[in-house]
Amino acid sequence: MAVQPIRLFGDPVLRTPAEPVKTFDKELRKLVKDLTDTMMDAPGAGLAAPQIGVGLRVFTYNIDDVVGHLVNPVLDLGEECDEEGEEGCLSFPGLAFPTPRAIRAVAKGFNMHGDPVTIEGTDLMARCLQHETDHLDGILFIDRMDAKQRKLAMKAVREAEWSGLSAPVVKFSPHATFGRAI
Ligand SMILES: [Zn+2]
Repeated sequence: MAVQPIRLFGDPVLRTPAEPVKTFDKELRKLVKDLTDTMMDAPGAGLAAPQIGVGLRVFTYNIDDVVGHLVNPVLDLGEECDEEGEEGCLSFPGLAFPTPRAIRAVAKGFNMHGDPVTIEGTDLMARCLQHETDHLDGILFIDRMDAKQRKLAMKAVREAEWSGLSAPVVKFSPHATFGRAI
């Protein structure tokens, strides 16, 4: 099994911007497999590399039985916004909150072999593309909420049974991180 432990809110790796992938090698293919296996095991709709402690710009998704991945994503968002849609995060187990997101998103990037890929998403897929790309910038869904909603969310986080349990383990990644500790 390539299922990896999922880092919880409070772990500094979730606040660290990830580095672009530069080599599309065997290590990258293993990372995509680890992310996919961990996401499916959770189960979750998406998982970004920092959530398993790897500081590279890669995420996987699992929306309506379509499973895929994207490397080095760049987002283009529609103007129309869904203010009310509930969103969760595997790094905040058991919690979901209304989080404003663009209803349409286009993500351009690469697959694990280095071929260009474009993913056009609406609704849940668009939400997933935004949530996962945010992870690669060290941004979490609580940051996208208005102040009132964020306050409610943080209260729920403090009361969650996993809160404070995520003693962060900082270690060197087995993946190429270009000399950075992540
Ligand atoms: Zn998340």
